[in-house]
Amino acid sequence: MTGAPLVGVLALQGDVREHQHALEACGALTRRVRTIAELDGIDALVIPGGESTTMSKLAVRWGLLEPLRVLVRSGLPAYGSCAGMIMLADRIEGGRADQETIGGLDVTVRRNAFGRQVDSFEGDLSMPVLGDAPVHAVFIRAPWVETVGEEVEVLGTVATGPAAGRIVAVRQGDLIATSFHPELTGDTRVHEYFVEMVRGKA
Ligand code: GLN
Repeated sequence: MTGAPLVGVLALQGDVREHQHALEACGALTRRVRTIAELDGIDALVIPGGESTTMSKLAVRWGLLEPLRVLVRSGLPAYGSCAGMIMLADRIEGGRADQETIGGLDVTVRRNAFGRQVDSFEGDLSMPVLGDAPVHAVFIRAPWVETVGEEVEVLGTVATGPAAGRIVAVRQGDLIATSFHPELTGDTRVHEYFVEMVRGKA
């Protein structure tokens, strides 16, 4: 790919602007996506954190769910953070009965996995694809990945504490997902990894 990739950030709900800033710091162009027309021409998609049940409802209401499924199935690179991870999962535990996802990642994701009473916490992760320095991760009512299919690469696990060993970052082909919010910490390595993946694709 010559020039900067154009990354759409799904802007139905959630922390859209923080992802735009992180992506732009990595040399990508960004566009907020709320309509089918705004999907046109994007090289990749980011699905932010927020509330996956709300996001799912809005995606259905605004007619975006099917177009997003088609795009992701046809190979559009995508990165989902927290609620975005849930949106990319093929299977959810602890979801609402009518909760739809875009899917694409052959994983089962457990919503609010760290316990509903634990609103948020921070911890260090081991994420070898991002280098030796641990990733300081912020989790907010976060999911984790309960099980992964054969094609899924585990990128990161919780390093210490009661959730040690839990899977919180995965990749399958050109789809990546994290339970945590790298857009909130100023550590742009996850976004860099994603933007490099998108650049490498064309
Ligand atoms: N608990 C939220 C959900 O299920 C995700 C939280 C987040 O994105 N920070 O959608």
